[in-house]
Amino acid sequence: MMYNNKIDFIRILEMIKSVCGYCGVGCGLEFEENKLIGDVVYPTNEGKLCSKGISELISIQTPSRLLRPKVRDDLTQEFKETTWSNAINKIATKIALSPKEKIGFYLSGQLLTEDYYIANKLMKGFIGTNNVDTNSRTCMSSAVVAYKKSIGADYVPVRMNDVHDANLLILVGANTAEAHVVFHNRIKTAKKQGLKIIVIDPRFTDTAKIADLYLPIKAGSDIDFWNLVSNRIIDEGLVDEKFVEENVNNYDLLKNKFKRIPVTKMLKRTGLSPEQFEIFWQMYKENENIITAWTMGINQSSQGVDKNLAIINTHLLTGKIFTKGNGPFSLTGQPNAMGGREVGGLSTMLAVHLGFDKESIKKVNEFWKTSKVSNVVGLTATQMLEANLDVLIICHTDPIYHLPNRNKMEELMKKIPMVVEINAYENSETSPFAHIKLPAAPWGEKEGTQTNLDRTITKQEKLTRISIDCKPDWEIFQLIAQRLGYKEAFNFESPKEIFEEYQEMTKLNPHLNIYEASYDNLSREPFIWGEKIRKNRKFLTKDKKANLFFVENKLLSEKTSLKYPLTLLTGRTRDQWHTGTKTNLPRTLLKYKELNFCEIHPINAKQFGIQDGDSIKISSIRGEIESKAILTEDIRIDTIFMPISNRNINYLTHDLYDKDSMQPDYNHSAVRVEKV
Ligand code: SF4
Repeated sequence: MMYNNKIDFIRILEMIKSVCGYCGVGCGLEFEENKLIGDVVYPTNEGKLCSKGISELISIQTPSRLLRPKVRDDLTQEFKETTWSNAINKIATKIALSPKEKIGFYLSGQLLTEDYYIANKLMKGFIGTNNVDTNSRTCMSSAVVAYKKSIGADYVPVRMNDVHDANLLILVGANTAEAHVVFHNRIKTAKKQGLKIIVIDPRFTDTAKIADLYLPIKAGSDIDFWNLVSNRIIDEGLVDEKFVEENVNNYDLLKNKFKRIPVTKMLKRTGLSPEQFEIFWQMYKENENIITAWTMGINQSSQGVDKNLAIINTHLLTGKIFTKGNGPFSLTGQPNAMGGREVGGLSTMLAVHLGFDKESIKKVNEFWKTSKVSNVVGLTATQMLEANLDVLIICHTDPIYHLPNRNKMEELMKKIPMVVEINAYENSETSPFAHIKLPAAPWGEKEGTQTNLDRTITKQEKLTRISIDCKPDWEIFQLIAQRLGYKEAFNFESPKEIFEEYQEMTKLNPHLNIYEASYDNLSREPFIWGEKIRKNRKFLTKDKKANLFFVENKLLSEKTSLKYPLTLLTGRTRDQWHTGTKTNLPRTLLKYKELNFCEIHPINAKQFGIQDGDSIKISSIRGEIESKAILTEDIRIDTIFMPISNRNINYLTHDLYDKDSMQPDYNHSAVRVEKV
């Protein structure tokens, strides 16, 4: 195998500290003598790294790196190399000629905070539309909306080291053993110290192997389950009356609603027996400090926000929040999804967690010395392709791969007159739909900050010289801004300058105390924002009280049928990052699981004449793909699982969204399987 991009690592006398750029755990690492090891003094990982983190240097050196700007006039042509100035001219000219509401920026949780800041400032502050969103929309937005509704802000009230102070950890719709590997190791350590673990999932995952109790819940019934828990909390007098009286709204309303809930019907919908629920309930009652942690099994749903709220209700009722070892804990998937949200990378919020109210718009206009900030909520990532845009800039992400109902998305993408792809790699699924490709610097070739899943801000350091014609993302957006004439507002010379402007901006919102961090110290001394909020036990709503919400399972997801009798679940596997662009490389030798397989229960396999290892076709009403059958009793009957490392998986999934978060319903598509 020939590699067309040779790493020329910086000659250094000292080791460099940096942070892993793969997942939301955000492990600290050290680079010395051309290899990576875990940083033993870094609080998140204490020296541990998973296979992705250890092999991250290889991701810089893949044969699929995009190294020069490329253009073509239409999708039938081959790309031709061009200069940066020609490519930027084309983009800026198109933006200048397009109505602002016809322009979209589609960003990524893989971007650094400074990249996000510049893109957001350009779009919201100077182009004058809020059509800037991120692929975090497809993984985190349900949690963001729920936290805002219940506790008043997009604020995660738990930290990873809380598991050492908890007595019980409930993992629901979260496979930490594969998606948050080093955090999972911490959970295992806490278990040795006495932590009890309950895993609730339609699959007996690797995470379930360490559980004291495993509940094989039916996909789509989480609201029923958590309502049953809240109902029992109220019925058995476990409500923390004093805490609720002083800190929580809507208790009486919720209590009255729960008087009428159909308990037996709800339990039946979960697929759990009364005995299984009673065992859970005994463990719940007996344990003082409880963390409930979740990820895509809850968020990626047509009722993702309500599922989050149903979980958060249990913590508000019992007062198990804002104290050590307690709280509702949304586990972010990507390394900087949270940093992107802080900066304002979602189209549904302004910068620094501000909204679109008059006062916030005034503050942001004044700060950026502009008058163009709009009060119209922008298009979400999941809406952009359907909005007849004139120009779409996609940065470090792959919407054709990750958006649901791919056949439809491909048709929509083809209609956009100018698609610009800013990426470090050439082989995305979106690439065939792009008109301009700009080579971005990947992890290791750039510096800047990122915020992990528990509000810890760390600095990624540059480990190697930037490749030939690549640029960091902030510089690319700054070039576009300058070409559009905004030279004064976009004259940054380094990520540090950007971070410091952003820090000033965080003063506009008192709960974001990021202005207290020091950029130069961040790789050695990570900064955790928002710790005072936890200590003060005051919520971030206007009246400083949290809100309970009564939510019901409205059964909105696609129903199975005689023709499509199975429910498709999707998820990560341990050693692959999304499509495997960075991890499925010959030299990484990450062979834990294949990229493409389909887990199916032996009873269903028998029903459809399928044997272990057979090539199978999986179809939904939207499309079909092929895979290899793996027969296992670890999955519920009538449910199949496929990993998201299968690049074609979204030919199957439904483009149904949560109406509040606009997050897709990735885990409830009706499918059938047959032998090829
Ligand atoms: Fe990187 Fe996540 Fe693995 Fe840590 S757990 S090394 S952050 S991929």
